[in-house]
Amino acid sequence: MKEIFLGTDGLFPTPREISFSCSCPDWTLMCKHVAAVLYGIAVRFDENPLLFFELRGIDVERFVQVTLENSVDSMLSNMDVKSDRIIESDDWEALFGLV
Ligand SMILES: [Zn+2]
Repeated sequence: MKEIFLGTDGLFPTPREISFSCSCPDWTLMCKHVAAVLYGIAVRFDENPLLFFELRGIDVERFVQVTLENSVDSMLSNMDVKSDRIIESDDWEALFGLV
């Protein structure tokens, strides 16, 4: 998921892809008008986080469906692979130094 959102060509724009401009005489990078627009966008994202996908032209239902299918496929392809997080010992007392 991290790659989908933050990777190259990910869903989140990189700082270089974001620019601000306003025709007002304020010389700062982020004038009060730009700040107000960003605040308005943030409020709308708070109200509807899925708006982010809509703005990127992504069909959310299809995105979730494909992500779930890929997760299931990945889990099924790894079902015979033993996790390295499984403790092999049956001697639990010794493992925790209780003997
Ligand atoms: Zn302005």
